[in-house]
Amino acid sequence: MPPTLRAVERVFCHFWEVPETTSRLIDNPIDDPSAAAPGAADLAGLDELVTRCTACPRLVEWREEVARVKRAAFRDQEYWGRPVPGFGPPDAAIAIVGLAPAAHGGNRTGRIFTGDRSGDVLFQALYDVGLASQPEAWHIDDGLTLHSTRITAPVHCAPPANKPTPAERDTCRPWLVRELDLLRPTLRAVVVLGAFGWQALLPVLADAAWQVPKPRPKFGHDAHAELPATDGGAPLHLLGSYHVSQQNTFTGRLTPAMLRAVLERAKGLAELR
Ligand code: SF4
Repeated sequence: MPPTLRAVERVFCHFWEVPETTSRLIDNPIDDPSAAAPGAADLAGLDELVTRCTACPRLVEWREEVARVKRAAFRDQEYWGRPVPGFGPPDAAIAIVGLAPAAHGGNRTGRIFTGDRSGDVLFQALYDVGLASQPEAWHIDDGLTLHSTRITAPVHCAPPANKPTPAERDTCRPWLVRELDLLRPTLRAVVVLGAFGWQALLPVLADAAWQVPKPRPKFGHDAHAELPATDGGAPLHLLGSYHVSQQNTFTGRLTPAMLRAVLERAKGLAELR
């Protein structure tokens, strides 16, 4: 939500004595990413701030409800139930941008793509091309590290039916803007998983250090666009891939070989060996 609308909402909430978003899991909440994100001095600081965000009432309610009710297979586990930050080193040359955490994946484990079928496909491919230390990710303390790669999302909370609203996407945008700002010195390629991430990312890139061509590049598997820098630095290579959702991987729309090929291309464009 834009800051002006948020301010109006606060006034009316106060007037009608409607309670603001409350979280049973977060003691020191942040309800305005546009005010908080620019103050993050580094990625570790940004990740900490993201995990305290309560700006989207519907998503706060959903992520905590899922964490309370749980899936039967995980009923003995403590769910994370908070926003899930990006994962990977601060000097990454490649960013992988998905959609949002899965209700029983990242929302359970606290690490993006960790503990779900989509992550199984993604981390196996990252390992195969030398960008991950191991082919599996099942727990936040499983020892997995990424090489020159950071995984993030335009929406940091698990949404109902995997569908964030446009307002939720826009409210979350300042976190991604700041993340890309902090990655700017080393970032050379972005692999976007799916059309939603593509649409969400283009305005962020335009707000950051790169020019987005007009008409905007269209999403497709293996789509590629080179975006010139506006800050005198290196250009950014934008690459598309079908999302690693089960809908795509079970039907063969996205095969492991197709995903590896996109990641290998990103490595080459980012000049990683
Ligand atoms: S989706 Fe983003 S802005 Fe909304 S509550 Fe989660 S972290 Fe905050």
